[in-house]
Parts: sequence; structure tokens; C-alpha cells
Amino acid sequence: MAGKNPFTAILIAPCGMNCAICMAHLREKNRCGGCYAPDRKCSRNCTISACGKVQGRCHPDCGEFPCRRLKQLDKRYRTKYHMSMLDNLAAIRKDGIRAFVRNERKRWTCTSCGGTIDVHHYRCSACGKEPE
Ligand SMILES: [Zn+2]
Repeated sequence: MAGKNPFTAILIAPCGMNCAICMAHLREKNRCGGCYAPDRKCSRNCTISACGKVQGRCHPDCGEFPCRRLKQLDKRYRTKYHMSMLDNLAAIRKDGIRAFVRNERKRWTCTSCGGTIDVHHYRCSACGKEPE
């Protein structure tokens, strides 16, 4: 992993999740390739990816955006995991995916070892340190 930048647009899921910081992507065994990957292992009952209306990350053509499903997911993450899908999607809409990915890299890279922070455990996946 050393020297490799794990922050990339392909790992930003339609729901606004950054799969790079997901525990399912960071684990060694049965690793998930991310929501856009062929070896996606994200929760089988993901209501966002199952939504027939999703046509890209920013849901540009959805009249229901942000829908109840997305709001519920967002609430769960804001409450438990120090992040917000809706804030992420708003940032992508405003400044574009490249700027978003750059900011994510700053936000979720361990200041001690350069490893990636696991958002679900809120600690570095490499050295175990909690983010400041
Ligand atoms: Zn670390």
C-alpha cells in the first residue's frame, strides 16, 4: 500500500460515500473493490444503488433528490461516522469530483503514517491512530 494514493474518483459511490475510507475496502480479507467495481461487496441491501433512478453520483435528473433513502443514510453517517453523504454530494456538485477527491485525501489521510483512516472505526487502518 505504501506510496499508493488510494483516493480516486472511481471509489466515490453514487450515494456520496468515499469507498476508499470504508472498512470493507480497507480490510485484507474479502476486500470490497468499491461501489463501481465488479467485485463490489457493499451491503447487498443498499437502497441507493438499488434505486432505479440513480444515473450518476449527483443524481442530476432525480426530482426526488435528496430522497428519503439518501437522507436516512446521511443521518446514520452524520450521527455515527463523522461524515455526511449529502455534504459530500453537495461538494461534488459545487466544485467537481477532482477537487472533492483532493479534499478527501487531506481529510482522511493519517497525519502520523500516511495510511488511510477507516471511517467506520474512526482510526488509521495502518497504525491505528485516531484522527485529530
Ligand atoms: Zn496511521
